[in-house]
Amino acid sequence: MFLEIRNKEIFKQAQHYALEYLESVFERNVFPTEEAINNLSIFEEELPVDSSKAEKVLEQLNQYGSAATTATLGGRYFGFVTGSAIPIGLAAKNIGTYWDQAAAMNVMSPLSSKLESVVEKWLKQLFGLPGETSAGFVSGTSMANLCGLAAARYRLFKNNNWDINQKGLRNAPLIRIVTGKHAHSTVLKAISILGLGQENIEWVDVDEQGRIRPELIPELDENTILILQAGNVNSGAFDDFHSICIQAKKANCWVHIDGAFGLWAGAVEKLKYLTKGMEDASSWAVDGHKTLNTPYDCGIVLCADEEALTSALHTSGSYLIESRERDGMFYTPEMSRRARIIELWAIMKYLGKKGIDEMILTMHQRSKQFAEEISEIRGFEVINDVVFNQILVRCETDEITSQVLNNIQNLRECWLGGSEWFGKKVMRVSICSWATTEKDVSRSIASFKKALEMKNP
Ligand SMILES: *Cc1c(COP(=O)(O)O)cnc(C)c1O
Repeated sequence: MFLEIRNKEIFKQAQHYALEYLESVFERNVFPTEEAINNLSIFEEELPVDSSKAEKVLEQLNQYGSAATTATLGGRYFGFVTGSAIPIGLAAKNIGTYWDQAAAMNVMSPLSSKLESVVEKWLKQLFGLPGETSAGFVSGTSMANLCGLAAARYRLFKNNNWDINQKGLRNAPLIRIVTGKHAHSTVLKAISILGLGQENIEWVDVDEQGRIRPELIPELDENTILILQAGNVNSGAFDDFHSICIQAKKANCWVHIDGAFGLWAGAVEKLKYLTKGMEDASSWAVDGHKTLNTPYDCGIVLCADEEALTSALHTSGSYLIESRERDGMFYTPEMSRRARIIELWAIMKYLGKKGIDEMILTMHQRSKQFAEEISEIRGFEVINDVVFNQILVRCETDEITSQVLNNIQNLRECWLGGSEWFGKKVMRVSICSWATTEKDVSRSIASFKKALEMKNP
């Protein structure tokens, strides 16, 4: 039965479904209907004893699966910070899927090794990072934060003559961690996984936009990891790297920047003032799958201390074949890993520097448009400075805000989530899709208006 691979029909069938999906996704309801969600119960079954026909498997997946997806590819999904995917990225990923390359070692896939080297260079130039910076291609910023902080941990202990890989944490010298009160939860998770302990964090207060307050940062030293943020997950605000990194460099401390979506501001001529000074950090975490709109499962750790990164993530084994070319596994926690570099390369090659600049600047402009149009409607208020792509909207009271958000979600014209901002309920709009047009914004604003009117039927 596995010989069905010779039968091109299932690939054609899959391609047919995929294209059908792409044709409808920009117009369909942004969130699945109740019915589609209820129908997912079709998948609840014991592992079948008998094998199924391949086309039947695809048929079920398409019929019940596709209806229960969220239309994140389209232009009116504003939830979390969810990028769309540029078509060329999906197409390249599709080819890469059939190649099924493991990106662990050069000898396993010379192609992914080459593309990783090339994209590493492109990223360094685009963000203006130090020449000695290396990149690891991971699943997302959660993992990139973990890798950057693992490199930091390795280096600071090493400077104290403590090899963390060999000696572990017991009786280890003290490492300080300093970060802002709005650090992303994945930063905290990395601190936990690395055994550094959240209780050991020296928390720094933030200003009304969620930026770390530089004047409150405690005295830094060579045993400190300072974690900053390019793009607050609610307000989109950027820490003041320029003043902070100079101070940190003098103190010889390690600065890690969580720039999941915001680091990309550094690639845009009109927005790069936001990341000024970030090149003086030691490690950076950024996503491809948010602002750059690669398909999902694409994050990058960048580290100016290659030895620290590769030592922190080192793998050895007598059967491994190290190459003089790049062996991707030394820069990531995994050994086997799909060659996600294929679609990242394709998107960067396709857009070029100008295309990246234009796409991200457009997201910013749509965000400004959104903020302006929603502010004109009585009953809505924008409560953050829209410096990048995040807009925090509030109604008169917490209760109304929650109710209106609920109505917006039920209307399914657009989708967004809620959050809390300094103790108040807010609606959180994140514009990070290449597909969001001016019309999409206006259409979504109309849905906000309708949702507000529905409040008291
Ligand atoms: C999304 C996000 C993360 C986590 O990234 P994933 O790609 O989801 O793992 C970390 N930090 C910030 C600021 C984010 O917005």
